[in-house]
Amino acid sequence: MIQLQGIRKAYRMGSNLLQVLKGIDLHIGSGELVSIMGSSGSGKSTLLNIIGILDNYDAGTYHLDGRLIRDLSETASAELRSKYIGFVFQSFNLISFKNAVENVALPLYYQGVPRRKRNELASAMLENVGLKDWARHMPNELSGGQKQRVAIARALVSSPKLILADEPTGALDSSTSHEVMDLLINVNRDLGLTVVIVTHEQDIAAMTQRVIRLKDGLIEQDHSLSPLADVRR
Ligand code: ADP
Ligand code: MG
Repeated sequence: MIQLQGIRKAYRMGSNLLQVLKGIDLHIGSGELVSIMGSSGSGKSTLLNIIGILDNYDAGTYHLDGRLIRDLSETASAELRSKYIGFVFQSFNLISFKNAVENVALPLYYQGVPRRKRNELASAMLENVGLKDWARHMPNELSGGQKQRVAIARALVSSPKLILADEPTGALDSSTSHEVMDLLINVNRDLGLTVVIVTHEQDIAAMTQRVIRLKDGLIEQDHSLSPLADVRR
């Protein structure tokens, strides 16, 4: 699904170059549930943004589902993103003046899906994440955990193959974090989607099947957790 080879990425800081990724080799197969760990500033979001075709890289190759992702136009990247990828962010990124079901329906609006169909699909998706009774509520009437459920429903509504979550539990307390992780685990297990979660929390990473650790711009550790050690599987 995701094949990264020798990926390098630097940011220009005035006259200096800050090398963030220094040669990342990584293969994530279809249907995997993976976490990416590393200290703050280690390049986790940079890597996730490259995988999500939100940002370019300087050197190396990135293939998504066998297709080389490089120097795409904004239109072409947007099209691939909407076809393949659902995003979940720490800060939820809900539209504050739209209610839950309208937020979930938004990606379908951009895909030109007719209103009636959009509402149908969005309502069904909200029901799937346990928020049927909250469809008409505005984001500021929802708890953090509920907002993240809405964001996950929005990520799922356009039937992506890949869910990318950048610190999805970073703004949540520990029991809500576990509920959100359970939902992402179900998305992986029941829908068979590839799920990549950036986190700096060990207990969150421990809920995934494979933990990748970034340090100094490289993959320091790539550790598959034994399926037998995982009581949920
Ligand atoms: P993480 O998500 O692991 O905390 P990031 O990928 O956000 O790390 O950032 C890695 C490094 O790159 C940090 O030092 C950060 O300050 C720097 N950085 C990230 N984005 C930019 C940018 N757009 N311009 C300049 N520097 C950036
Ligand atoms: Mg980050």
